[in-house]
Amino acid sequence: MADKKEFKNDFSWSFSRDNAFNTCKRKYYYSYYGSWGGWNKDADELSKKLYMLNKMTSLPMLAGSIVHDEVERTLKILRYGRKADIEKSKENVIKNFKQSWAQSKNKEWEDSPKWKANLFEHYYKKSLSDQELLDIRDLMVNSVDGFFASDSYRFIQTMSDTQWLAIEDLDSFEVHGAKLWVKLDFAIRHGERVYIYDWKTGKVAKENEVQLAIYALYAKQKWDVDLNLIRLFDVYLNQQLPVKVKPTNRLIDSAKGFIENSIDSMKELLTDVDNNKTEIDLFPLASEDRESYPCSYCSFQTICYDEKEIGN
Ligand code: SF4
Repeated sequence: MADKKEFKNDFSWSFSRDNAFNTCKRKYYYSYYGSWGGWNKDADELSKKLYMLNKMTSLPMLAGSIVHDEVERTLKILRYGRKADIEKSKENVIKNFKQSWAQSKNKEWEDSPKWKANLFEHYYKKSLSDQELLDIRDLMVNSVDGFFASDSYRFIQTMSDTQWLAIEDLDSFEVHGAKLWVKLDFAIRHGERVYIYDWKTGKVAKENEVQLAIYALYAKQKWDVDLNLIRLFDVYLNQQLPVKVKPTNRLIDSAKGFIENSIDSMKELLTDVDNNKTEIDLFPLASEDRESYPCSYCSFQTICYDEKEIGN
């Protein structure tokens, strides 16, 4: 009988990990160390709570993830030779939003924190105006409109599914001695070229280019394609704005440097680098004011401010 493989907290790097590291060291610790194993029924109460809080989402994040799911569903319809219906997609995003909202309101996440939505706004009793909810609805519906009207969708429709390379596939590759997780929204081969798309529902941000550069590094390795044959697109669906990014040597070098520095800084805070172990005291709180950034947006507030057993 094969040995049961141990599920180990190996060090890996991702964009969101870097973001947590730079926002608040304590938040980073809770997300990547304190909450580890909190999905197990026999885990200690603190790990379980940190795990639950780590799975928490917010209204804009929920809206973005619902739109991503709908774009993925639409492309898969296309793959099976059927015609996608924009009105059906708009209905879907609203229906899925209502379903997640109800899960959060009814605290269904208590038994299933990974699969049922737990909204920051509900958990921390934030009051929401009707206008704020309408804005979220508009964001989702406009993003669906933006996708159906995009040149990217038109282009993809002219391709055969044999040219598809990736659709929301989670994969990893190695950079600077660390596993780097990537999830490409969509990639397609056309002739010698590889086209990579990242659907965005948020605002245009320059740092998204670094994320695309990381995808280019992955594509080069995975599909053995020259960088100059890779085409990268951030498609801002809500604004109907496609941003084409060139994987120039300069951009790729700066992305590599960015990742290497980030990995080195994270590893400096490990007490046992080989086993990815560390201690909470090395990770200070970013602030002592619950009402100010970054705490005011942080899902771990209750640990840092309401429960003093480890938040000091
Ligand atoms: S509540 Fe503030 S101090 Fe605590 S983990 Fe979050 S950002 Fe850091």
